[in-house]
Amino acid sequence: MERFCSRAKKLYCPYCGTESLAFSHFGICRGCEAPLSQRKADVSASDNALVAANEQINKLCTEGDLEKAAAALDAKLSSHSEPGFLLAAGLFYIRYSNDELKKIRYDLDGFMEDNAMHRENSEKLMLHAKMLLNHAIKAAEKHAADEGGMSMEYIPFLAEIKLGHVKGAEYRMNRIKKDENAYLKDYAEVVMHAHMKKAESLLEHCDRMIRDGKVNLNLFYYIGYALFLKKAYADARTVLEYLNRVGDLDAAKILMSDMDRLYG
Ligand SMILES: [Zn+2]
Repeated sequence: MERFCSRAKKLYCPYCGTESLAFSHFGICRGCEAPLSQRKADVSASDNALVAANEQINKLCTEGDLEKAAAALDAKLSSHSEPGFLLAAGLFYIRYSNDELKKIRYDLDGFMEDNAMHRENSEKLMLHAKMLLNHAIKAAEKHAADEGGMSMEYIPFLAEIKLGHVKGAEYRMNRIKKDENAYLKDYAEVVMHAHMKKAESLLEHCDRMIRDGKVNLNLFYYIGYALFLKKAYADARTVLEYLNRVGDLDAAKILMSDMDRLYG
């Protein structure tokens, strides 16, 4: 992995405003898994307001003010409603919903009205997330005729996965034409195997992509996840800790804290 990182460059995701290490002209976002091909300076040159809006939203998220971040995100969606933006917004609301759920405390006395409020908020936010993910799929279908390209099947594929629709995801994955973008087709297979918790085939697919030179840091997260599924916790931790140092992946942090909680 050191060999790859030493020659990596940063590509920018316009949808969630994250920069990710990439090892060729093409990459995968470490935040929302969208395909990446532009540097931040390129996006900034064509749409500086979008980059500024993303920076503001991500700053509010870092500060833990998800309510204000949601308001800023909703304002951004009013001028950016392409499938990738809707997918990233759906992922934000899933995080927001989970955050509300974490506020529920069982050690409080009395009727725990606060808990009921957090549970209700969490459910509302999850419904909103699902609505955005469904909008991403519909928007992709609407634009498919104009755009034609791969990403029009890949983004709805990710949305189907997040919605837990395996049949829909399989349908989308089969429509991603291998000859048009083998990188995304292979990566979609990795995401699918991870979703199905198939550790052996997940490891095989990650390994094959890396050997074929289709490298991105998310693959190392999925290797860590496969090792976790195989109960090889020490090896999983080694991969995830290293990954966290070089790539700062939220997914790796979350999996590590889950492992800490479950297995100490
Ligand atoms: Zn992204």
